[in-house]
Amino acid sequence: MAVPKRKMSRSRTRHRKAQWLRTAAPTNANCKRCKAPVRPHTVCGTCGAYGGRTVLEVE
Ligand SMILES: [Zn+2]
Repeated sequence: MAVPKRKMSRSRTRHRKAQWLRTAAPTNANCKRCKAPVRPHTVCGTCGAYGGRTVLEVE
């Protein structure tokens, strides 16, 4: 069985885990109807539109 040759330092471990926060995707799309920033492939929370048509009733 493969075994790590050296102990990974606390600094190295924490430096790697600090990168996890960067994996969050930014909101890089706008609703076609109300121009509000929305995540791709997601129904707009402001007007309930998806793909140019209304799929949700938002009060
Ligand atoms: Zn919208």
